[in-house]
Amino acid sequence: MRLPIAFGRIITRAMSSSTGATTERFLQGRSALITGSTSGIGLGIAKSLAARGCDILLNGFADETVVNRLKNDISSNHGVNVHFFSTDLAKPEELNEMCNSIKSMYPVVDIIVNNAGFQHVSPIDEFPDEKWHDLLEVLLGAPFRLIKAFLPGMKTQNYGRVINISSAHGIIASPNKSAYVAAKHGLVGLTKVVALETAEMNITCNSICPGYVETPIFEFQVKSLAEKESLEYTEAKKKFLSNFHPSKEAVRVTDVAEMTTFLCTDACRNMTGSQITMDGAWTAK
Ligand code: NAD
Repeated sequence: MRLPIAFGRIITRAMSSSTGATTERFLQGRSALITGSTSGIGLGIAKSLAARGCDILLNGFADETVVNRLKNDISSNHGVNVHFFSTDLAKPEELNEMCNSIKSMYPVVDIIVNNAGFQHVSPIDEFPDEKWHDLLEVLLGAPFRLIKAFLPGMKTQNYGRVINISSAHGIIASPNKSAYVAAKHGLVGLTKVVALETAEMNITCNSICPGYVETPIFEFQVKSLAEKESLEYTEAKKKFLSNFHPSKEAVRVTDVAEMTTFLCTDACRNMTGSQITMDGAWTAK
């Protein structure tokens, strides 16, 4: 039977609230802090959450023109409030200041996405101590500090979502990436502890473990291979990925963003402490 459009809309709305589907603006009235959201995966996540009506707290490095454009684009496209914090997460005192500013605007932050990260590649016997320190602080120390700061607010309302962007390198290792692999494994461990400590509340904590994601850094690596071996870009991409992803396909930024958004739904209230792999079966080997 064909339903009148207005009636159909009511049904769709009712279905989405009972199934927790990611349709419509199911995050209206909520707020999300996404670290490292001035580019790549973090920016994709910010856009996806904003599209569901969520206020967005951006963080990361970018020049003022870029930041203003991002803020305007997200708020005008999705009708949400957007704030930006240029906080260097390698510096705990800056991170504390950011938490205080956020709490003066949003006493409770509903969603935290720990995404900020960078890489340093070097054999361990030459790995600079400062790089080890900063990498561990940004990829693991900052998630610990942010969860510690915002979990009490989540507990007061019996709702919260913590999503840690780990990596396939949170499950397996590659040479020359000691700090990154250690931090990403640590983030998976931190995820499990937070999940256990909040298990009786409607607060969940999960990590997403992507393989290679199609970001500018990935494209740069493929282009270098294409030049080195005189290959077309698509051939070089397949060749590069075949060393890692059995699927020979890269993960898209939007795939990780939609997974993050899905984890915020009511359907995921019992999904906590998980490591969600998105790696074309790399870590299944
Ligand atoms: P990206 O370089 O595009 O973005 C990194 C973000 O982190 C930027 O906004 C940057 O400004 C921010 N950042 C870096 N250092 C910071 C600091 N000290 N303080 C505050 N912000 C800082 O990278 P991406 O590829 O989008 O990666 C995002 C996350 O996903 C990282 O944690 C990365 O380890 C993880 N990841 C990426 C891939 C991939 O293939 N791209 C795969 C698996 C996991």
